[in-house]
Amino acid sequence: MSDKYFLSKSQYVRGMQCDKSLYLYKYHKELRDEISNAQKAVFASGTDVGVLAQQLFPDGVEVPYEGMSISEQVRMTRDEIAKGTKNIYEASFAFDGLFVKVDILHHGENGWELYEVKSSTSVKTVNYHDVSFQFYVVAGAGIQLSKACLVHINNQYVRNGDIEVDKLFTFNDMTNDVSGMQHNLPNVITKMRNMLDGDQPTTDIGPHCSDPYDCDFHGHCWQHIPKDSIFDLRGRGVDKFSFYQRGLIDFKDIPLSELNNSQRFQVKMHLSKGEQIDADGIRDFLDSLWYPLCHFDFETFMSPVPLHDGMRPYQAIPFQYSLHIQREEGAPIEHYEFLGEPNIDPRPTLIKAMLAQIPVDACVLAYNMAFEKTRIKEMSEDFPEYAEGLSNIHGRIRDLIVPFRKRYAYRWQQHGSNSIKNVLPAFIPDMSYQDLEISHGGMAMDAYHLMCAETDTQKLKSLRNNLFKYCERDTEAMVKLLQWLMKAKNTENLLY
Ligand code: SF4
Repeated sequence: MSDKYFLSKSQYVRGMQCDKSLYLYKYHKELRDEISNAQKAVFASGTDVGVLAQQLFPDGVEVPYEGMSISEQVRMTRDEIAKGTKNIYEASFAFDGLFVKVDILHHGENGWELYEVKSSTSVKTVNYHDVSFQFYVVAGAGIQLSKACLVHINNQYVRNGDIEVDKLFTFNDMTNDVSGMQHNLPNVITKMRNMLDGDQPTTDIGPHCSDPYDCDFHGHCWQHIPKDSIFDLRGRGVDKFSFYQRGLIDFKDIPLSELNNSQRFQVKMHLSKGEQIDADGIRDFLDSLWYPLCHFDFETFMSPVPLHDGMRPYQAIPFQYSLHIQREEGAPIEHYEFLGEPNIDPRPTLIKAMLAQIPVDACVLAYNMAFEKTRIKEMSEDFPEYAEGLSNIHGRIRDLIVPFRKRYAYRWQQHGSNSIKNVLPAFIPDMSYQDLEISHGGMAMDAYHLMCAETDTQKLKSLRNNLFKYCERDTEAMVKLLQWLMKAKNTENLLY
């Protein structure tokens, strides 16, 4: 069979999402977007989870991908089955130009069982397509499966000592569902192959570009979308693709009557390059603060496999903070910071440092405080010995996002967003995150994970420096924004 008709599991899933994506992948791979570091981190954590799940069916044999052709992988799988091997990892099967690698193939009481491992915490529709394709190819290759399951992370698991794989993972038996999907698979596959035989599909952009996965041809397919388009509109309640299909793409073409108040505000401000200042609102907000005044920000990491005792999968764990303190009006601003050591639960030392550095009577400003408050509440539950001090801080947190969210201060350059990453350059144009090696929370999380795996002291030092600079920038940004508000409260209202 010609190469162009060959379909691996990932190509099949790609084709289920969008025919054009499969076509471009087959014939114009060079048009794919670059893989971001965040995506690389997701792939790497998926691989770690897959390896850990093998312990559910221990002492198996792995069929490697690297260094072996497809036919060698298939042959090795066949040989292991013939030898009576009960657990085969990455078991490889080919049938009718289709190829799959089964994460875990286990011989149970009733025969062969297929286990697909995912690092997600729930089952999605795409998982059924994925497992059903594997079921079809394995059956076609002559192995009748007695069971097909999705194995995914149990987000209720709490680590206590060594990882207990039987508790970390949850099994979802899909046998009945995927058996029922088998009759339709030949039609779907034929349709995909016919599509690959023809001209490039004219499929237009749509919700499928990010569902179930962010398509890696986004940059190519979306190049006709101008900057400041309907897709840059913030908030819900508007079917952006229906505007797009009506040719209403550019901000200037969007009928304002069809938008909600906040979106109308965003578009109007954008088109007029406008600014709004509600000095009364700003004054009210500032009157709710007091000295000593702290600016506080956490960085957190999360991991599908809890790294330390007391942690749950994907729990956001604070490992760093930055703190600027102004003890009284006009006083110099002091800076404090904390960064956990790699491979040690950072929370106990971080809590102690927080309690020592944040004055007991201080007003603690966070930007979008729900995040900081939730982390503090979780830590007070996980470390009850510090609950009193933490709950004291929790009760004194105020939110610097309020004047921006309430539009007491708004500039069109925010593009409708209240995120500090957008608000900062709008109000303090000479300050941004662009000069930093680490410029957002996702990168900080990746840097922490890298730090835990790094042994080179120079590289470790550099990672730590970059993390310090990034987190400090967050609270420095808060200091500058507060100073801007303090000046603006004395200006004339400039109401839209
Ligand atoms: S970006 Fe959208 S339209 Fe283009 S290939 Fe991907 S899913 Fe299909």
